Amino acid sequence: VRFEDLGLRPEIMRAVKKMGFEEASPIQAKAIPVMMSGCDLIGQAQTGTGKTAAFGIPLLEKIEPKNKKLQAIVLCPTRELAIQVAEEIRHLAYYMHGIKVLPIYGGQEIVKQIRSLKGGVQLIIGTPGRVMDHMRRRTIKMENLHTVVLDEADEMLNMGFREDIETILEEVPAERQTVLFSATMPKPILEITKKYQNHAEIIKV
Ligand code: AMP
Repeated sequence: VRFEDLGLRPEIMRAVKKMGFEEASPIQAKAIPVMMSGCDLIGQAQTGTGKTAAFGIPLLEKIEPKNKKLQAIVLCPTRELAIQVAEEIRHLAYYMHGIKVLPIYGGQEIVKQIRSLKGGVQLIIGTPGRVMDHMRRRTIKMENLHTVVLDEADEMLNMGFREDIETILEEVPAERQTVLFSATMPKPILEITKKYQNHAEIIKV
């Protein structure tokens, strides 16, 4: 599938070309239209399939650069993944002006993070524990969120983040898009999808 056929913003098309992506990968070809339609999504895909851009591109399509409030959040299991995902999305947003993407993770000085958050961040890529910490301090406000992505959901559950994830999802407005990516689909993942998603479309690659 060609990126040209997905109806993307010209700024994103330019970035995709600059990154050297020639064709959409199978997960991208399937997930991008579903996410852009606003449906909830369960994506079963391993790392290396292009899953980051599969949710990163539609996230950028949905974010309004003029609105400086937090609009979307991606939850990841580790600091390394949060940094890597933020980096890839920043590349995709290279030609879009006024978009701020911030990785937020444990182990980094919280005061420094609070300062960065004050600059009007629309998209956070964070680990659940630290995101919850900011939520409790009211340095991250969930009330304008329209999209939540759970990346490597099975890994997050393995690392014991289930309660944090559920606490965060309880705070996000019910009128939202909830997207979950996981390499495996054990029972606890299915329970999360059942509790927090609406008529999710399932995509497997
Ligand atoms: P991911 O599965 O998201 O970790 O992506 C794996 C690698 O593939 C990353 O280095 C991406 O930048 C790259 N990639 C993602 N989508 C494409 C594509 N459509 N064509 C070529 N490379 C891609």
